[in-house]
Amino acid sequence: MNSSNSSPVLERSREVLELTHEKALVMYRQLPNVLIFTFVASSALMLYYREIQQLWFWWGAMQCAGGLRLISWFFWRYRWRKADSLQQSSRATYIFIALSLITGALWACFSIAFFPVSTASQRLVIALVMATVAAGSVNVLALAPWASRVFIALLIGPLVVMFASTGERDELVIAALGGALFIGLTGFARVASQTANHLLLMAQERNHKIASVFAQREALQRDKSHLQFQLAEKVETLEQEMTLKERYARELARVAALDSLTGLLNRSAFERELHQHLHERTRDLPLALVAVEIRRFDLIELQGARTSEQVLVAIANRLRDFGGGQLLLARTGTAEFTMVFCDPEQRWQDRGVFLRAALQSTIETDIGPVAVDVILGIATVDEEAQDLETLNYRASIARQDLRQRGAGGVVLFDTVMEVEIRRRQKLRFALHAALETRSLTLVFQPIEPCMTRVSRKMEALLRWDDPELGTVSPAMFIPVAEESGLILPLGRWVLLESCRAALSWPGDTVVSVNVSVQQILAGDLANDVRRALELTALSPQRLEIEITESVFSRDIETICIVLEQVRALGVSIAIDDFGTGYSSLAYLRHLPVDVIKIDRCFIQSLDQGSRKLLLALFSMARGLGFKVVVEGVETEEQQNLLVAMGVDYLQGYLIARPMLAKDVVSWLSNRT
Ligand code: C2E
Ligand code: CA
Ligand code: CA
Repeated sequence: MNSSNSSPVLERSREVLELTHEKALVMYRQLPNVLIFTFVASSALMLYYREIQQLWFWWGAMQCAGGLRLISWFFWRYRWRKADSLQQSSRATYIFIALSLITGALWACFSIAFFPVSTASQRLVIALVMATVAAGSVNVLALAPWASRVFIALLIGPLVVMFASTGERDELVIAALGGALFIGLTGFARVASQTANHLLLMAQERNHKIASVFAQREALQRDKSHLQFQLAEKVETLEQEMTLKERYARELARVAALDSLTGLLNRSAFERELHQHLHERTRDLPLALVAVEIRRFDLIELQGARTSEQVLVAIANRLRDFGGGQLLLARTGTAEFTMVFCDPEQRWQDRGVFLRAALQSTIETDIGPVAVDVILGIATVDEEAQDLETLNYRASIARQDLRQRGAGGVVLFDTVMEVEIRRRQKLRFALHAALETRSLTLVFQPIEPCMTRVSRKMEALLRWDDPELGTVSPAMFIPVAEESGLILPLGRWVLLESCRAALSWPGDTVVSVNVSVQQILAGDLANDVRRALELTALSPQRLEIEITESVFSRDIETICIVLEQVRALGVSIAIDDFGTGYSSLAYLRHLPVDVIKIDRCFIQSLDQGSRKLLLALFSMARGLGFKVVVEGVETEEQQNLLVAMGVDYLQGYLIARPMLAKDVVSWLSNRT
């Protein structure tokens, strides 16, 4: 117990209780000896005065008192002492004192009763006994000084009075000695009481100190064992954490090397391993690196994350199956995988074709079967390509070549590809500069109506005369512009310049502008068109947009939305190069289209078969309500045939070659 926490009042009462208890303890400890002595002394006196009958009463009373004291001793011993209360200890003390005083009174009674009938020697015996008892009481009642004084007074007082009252000289001396003894004994009693109290207090203090030291030691011990326990616990958790950390670190290193979705190596782990592989490889073992790409993965992603994940996992598993675990395999991009495999026969192309076929078989997903288009670029490890960077570069060049040619399939790296890619790169830089230096111009080619009442159209065609590269055909630079995103600013410029040029033409002449699919998908075509019309104040009916048929193989919904927006402005829409794509006419009926431009390949040869095909195309387009333009009319024969068929417009070198903007007005005025 922490004593400093209890209140001072409580502390004080606790001390009082302890002191009272100690006093009672000291008193009762002496009681058995006192009782024996009292019994012996009283019995001796009884024997000494046995001829006096009344003494039996006194002896009886004395033994009764002794009996009560014995009972009190038992009570003390077995009850009061154990009760930890001030009340019980005080009661024990009072009873002890009371019974002691009763005993003292009985001794006084003895003196008073038998002194007068005693002989001188008997009186001396009485005096001796009383003095002895009184002296003994000094110690027994040392802790109750007033009771001690009363007890001594009871024993010595009557004798002193009685000795003094005899008037005899000897007795007077004895009385005086008795008085001195009383004074001496009370003095002793006081000192004994003080000493006993002092000793008790000291003992109490010492006990307190010991108790507090013990309490402190116990508290320290408790703290120590608590700390030891905590320490042990901490050590244990620390050990657990360490093992856990080590496990995590190992797991982390493993996971860090893997792609979380497919479980294949990730790019950095693949590069590390390949590096090592190339370093340790046996020279005569033919190796190749294959870069695998899922084309138009964005379309698969549009089906939802779950579907695209299922596709990627399926492709990863098929690649694993192909290698049979003997090769390095990694996911190196969103929809890109890289693999290194060995073929002693070096039939790379065949193996690639085989792999592609396996990868392209339909994949079952939650939303149903999904078809994927996969391209493979292969780079073999040879004298010039022995390091990771070169191999990666070559495989990606091969894929780029495939992409640029718009062809799917499998391609083995060839140095010619590198030349082509560099050429395109050069073209891209030059085009960039051309856009800034305005070395691009527009020429216009008439689209002639077969009926005189219909307004004439002029198609805007880009021209690029580069000081270094010479005249570059749009067929060459438009794909480069599309690839690099340059088509967006370029397209805006063409739109604006075409509208501006049309302003100087006769009232109803329409300008027809070619628009690339990127402008529809990545740009904001409707806004670009609106802006061009607003800036030039050209009537929307005088503007037409040409898009190639292949546009509709892309994200058809977005394209339709954009075309509807453009059409809502009052601008008409034409499908260019019609017949070269795959869309059916019936399908086109639902699209926001006004004009169909039949590709020039349909009139290049005019044999019976071609004529039939052309006629079929034309009558279907007509039947669906489209205006029809036929491109590439170079001969009178073609013209006559088409006019006879009832085609709405003709376009081609026969009518006019594309001309400079400044020549358009005079050409137009010559025509009318
Ligand atoms: P296109 O839209 O089909 O344009 C018609 C192409 O055929 C033009 O080639 C034109 O000069 C050529 N042509 C016209 N009549 C005849 C003919 O009777 N016989 C022959 N053999 N050819 C004829 P050009 O100007 O070289 O344009 C090639 C392609 O470049 C265009 O094909 C068009 O797809 C694209 N293009 C041109 N200008 C632009 C443009 O401003 N923006 C976009 N996105 N593409 C453009
Ligand atoms: Ca065109
Ligand atoms: Ca065309």
